[in-house]
Amino acid sequence: MAIVYNFSAGPAVMPKEVLEKVQRELLSYKNSGMSVMEISHRSSLFADIQKNAEGNLRKLMNIPDEYDVLFLQGGATLQFTMAPMNLAINKKKIDFVDTGHWAQRAIEEARLVDGIEVTQITSGADSKYTSLPEIDDSLQEDADYVHITLNNTIEGTAFKIVPTFKEVPIIGDMSSNILGQRYNVTDFGMIYAGAQKNIGPAGLTVVIIRHDLVEKSPDLPAMLSYKKLVAKNSTLNTPPVFAIYCAGLVFEWLLAQGGVDEMEKRNRKKSKLLYDYLDSSSVFQSPVAIESRSLTNIPFVTGNAELDKQFIALANDNNLVGLKGHRLVGGMRASLYNAFPIEGVEKLITVMEKFELEHKE
Ligand code: PLP
Repeated sequence: MAIVYNFSAGPAVMPKEVLEKVQRELLSYKNSGMSVMEISHRSSLFADIQKNAEGNLRKLMNIPDEYDVLFLQGGATLQFTMAPMNLAINKKKIDFVDTGHWAQRAIEEARLVDGIEVTQITSGADSKYTSLPEIDDSLQEDADYVHITLNNTIEGTAFKIVPTFKEVPIIGDMSSNILGQRYNVTDFGMIYAGAQKNIGPAGLTVVIIRHDLVEKSPDLPAMLSYKKLVAKNSTLNTPPVFAIYCAGLVFEWLLAQGGVDEMEKRNRKKSKLLYDYLDSSSVFQSPVAIESRSLTNIPFVTGNAELDKQFIALANDNNLVGLKGHRLVGGMRASLYNAFPIEGVEKLITVMEKFELEHKE
């Protein structure tokens, strides 16, 4: 089979070695005679999978003991609701940093939670979200927490340094760059991420939350309550066993590759290759301000919708798939997650150069 490079923003490319291991173990997990999809979530086989996955994630991200790790369902989108319900409890106010589509979705959902006041303390709307807004802690109002989207999957911007705020915790949506670059967990009250980009199959959401915030959270229906989910070690109901198993294998793979710092190094190299080409091209451009650029999601355009379409068709013919930009931004987008190989970026640039030669004015 020809090599296909999958540039999709999510669900996204998984490490080949992990998929091969899943394939080998699929029919009989650890000689149990059962598939991992068939084993009980109350069995010691699964307890070990979850324990190892959590332990390895803690190693990868240097997660201190005072943080709980949850493996949940409902995607990052459910966290747009759970975070306000559990954490906006004293002042009932949340400050949001508006960096584009996913930040806006988080704002919309928070507004639907009864009695919560939402403030957009800063916004990148003026630049059409092609650069990150300025943040300083004087912007921070009297809120329970500040919400930040660390990597903006659609717009292709990312915070390299986490802004600091006076006394309030930061809640970070890290869905599209978790484990792809180094952040300090202790800069956050909570981090959450849908798994389907840098972690594993869809259906799993990782939440990393400081225990004192869990302790203070109110009594809520069980599946919406961090406190109850922590008390039951994420197995309050049947957890997504297969997705947690795959995530565990990805964490092992990441450790074997050299961990998050090595991933960041590789992601910088891959993204630099593409940005350097874009900045020198006479046909393709990056719309994103240099200092705001993401390492994992790289939108680019020709400035002509018809040419964009032609390029996407040429890319598909060359087994470069998933490059169509998000409908909100148009153009193309190359998502270069941890498992995406540098050879894919090199091939993309070769095809772009060919296209450029044919379409240069
Ligand atoms: N937040 C960000 C930054 C995303 O990129 C996405 C999905 O692409 C989401 C939230 C929504 O994630 P989910 O589909 O897991 O709800």
